[in-house]
Amino acid sequence: MTEDQERRKPVCYLVCFAEPYTARTGQQKKQARHYLGWTVNLDKRIQLHRANQGARLLAVINAAGIGWDVVRIWDNGSRALELKLKSRHRHAALCPICQERRQQERQRYQGEQQHAQEDSIMKEGSAKAGPFAFGTPEPPR
Ligand SMILES: [Zn+2]
Repeated sequence: MTEDQERRKPVCYLVCFAEPYTARTGQQKKQARHYLGWTVNLDKRIQLHRANQGARLLAVINAAGIGWDVVRIWDNGSRALELKLKSRHRHAALCPICQERRQQERQRYQGEQQHAQEDSIMKEGSAKAGPFAFGTPEPPR
């Protein structure tokens, strides 16, 4: 019983999908790559998610055959913290997986930029703004 109590620890958790999922609601298209929730029993909640219970989005992700994993956990989770994290609307900035991928893409992009500068003095105006409109993530509090 004490073991069970130990596991009952409130956390907020971030789920990252192996690939982005495009949800269509009526005319609107929305891309989702993350799910953020909070629970007092993460193991149990993950089991529920795997069983298509607990969150409709993850049931949809399961049905689409997209893999997912919990990539980040915040201690002292609460509904308030969940809402605070969600209010940033930038789950990718909270996600270590997406951050790493973005950094790799950025490095590749910078490498391309260097090449472009070396051999394209004639191609004025060809430089584009990078696809990286994201700022530096703030550490969770
Ligand atoms: Zn991610």
